Amino acid sequence: MFRIAVAPGDGIGKEVTAEGVKVLQAAADAENLTLQLDYMDLGSDRYLSTGELLTDDDIKFMRDCQAVYFGAIGDPRVAPGVLEKGILIKMRTTFDQYVNLRPSKAWHPYTPLKGEKNFDILFLRENTEDLYMGAGGVLKGIEAKANMSLKRGLYDVDLTLSSKASSEQEFAFEIGMMSRQGIERFADYCFETAKRLGKEKVTAVDKANVCTSLYGLWRKVFDERSAHHGIDVEYMYVDAMAMALVRAPERFGVVACPNMFGDILTDLGAEIMGGLGVAASGNINPEGVSMFEPVHGSAPDIAGQGKANPIAAILAGKLMMDQLGRPDIGRMIEFAVKMAMKQKLVTADMGGTLNTVQAGDAIANIVRSSG
Ligand code: ATP
Repeated sequence: MFRIAVAPGDGIGKEVTAEGVKVLQAAADAENLTLQLDYMDLGSDRYLSTGELLTDDDIKFMRDCQAVYFGAIGDPRVAPGVLEKGILIKMRTTFDQYVNLRPSKAWHPYTPLKGEKNFDILFLRENTEDLYMGAGGVLKGIEAKANMSLKRGLYDVDLTLSSKASSEQEFAFEIGMMSRQGIERFADYCFETAKRLGKEKVTAVDKANVCTSLYGLWRKVFDERSAHHGIDVEYMYVDAMAMALVRAPERFGVVACPNMFGDILTDLGAEIMGGLGVAASGNINPEGVSMFEPVHGSAPDIAGQGKANPIAAILAGKLMMDQLGRPDIGRMIEFAVKMAMKQKLVTADMGGTLNTVQAGDAIANIVRSSG
């Protein structure tokens, strides 16, 4: 039995989560697996009526579950960043979900890439360090100084910076920081994943020719962990990687990215695969509670109209089953999605005629008939 916290959230999050749950339940039934699905009320309605985002009780509730299945948050009535920081980022940091995982594979004929390229890439993005530490500020005035004390996750850093900028000049900074411990645990996850998937190498992305300190340590640790795991590492500069992903995505298998470059490259990965409607992701703590969600947001422009494509949420359910040690159920879900696409049982964004519920029903029916 798996106990799963389900948080549909806002807008189309509610619609696609319902379909994701439908398909998960069909696949679990086919394998006689019991799913205990416990729903959580997170998102804009609750925030607007109570002021609550992610409370200590919510965290305790999630801690008692094996995984979190998430829809989407975002609402025009709430200022940008409030829900994201107060719910999503807080969840990631509280549960130390240090790997962001996003598959990108050729979903023919929906990939915009020309030809019959068959790629199957697993992007792994370091999810806690690099330029996302919040180590930044703006210095203004003669001999301006910034004192920063960062106590976050793996860090406990004190920094003093000064600038001789005149009062008209402003000097802004945002520091990228990575720790040996942070890179090591992430690299270990990448090499272990490559081994599990039968891949011979991990492609590690960086900009070590310019940011020599930051990505110098990154390479040093990747070299060490590569030797330890007996899996090769190949390095790619992020600019070259962006080109290669369009020109020859079939060259890559497991791709390891630092936080900032991963943010950008995984969106490129979503687009070459077939777009937001099919892009799923996981925020992983291999020893703790992980969270699975579609990459898209709450899409208020199409919410409540039955137009949302449920495939990204359904594939997020597949990633969750893989992570919980049931790749057989994950494969069943992915196969059903592939069949539905082949038979054009899809929503309008993919050229089909089905609404959200019909598209979810079609995939659940394929699971039932193939299970
Ligand atoms: P944010 O990502 O900041 O929450 P958002 O919710 O406005 O922003 P996204 O959900 O990322 O935007 O998507 C952008 C647009 O893509 C949407 O406005 C919608 O038109 C379309 N879109 C997103 N997800 C889907 C989906 N599952 N099915 C169909 N169209 C979608």
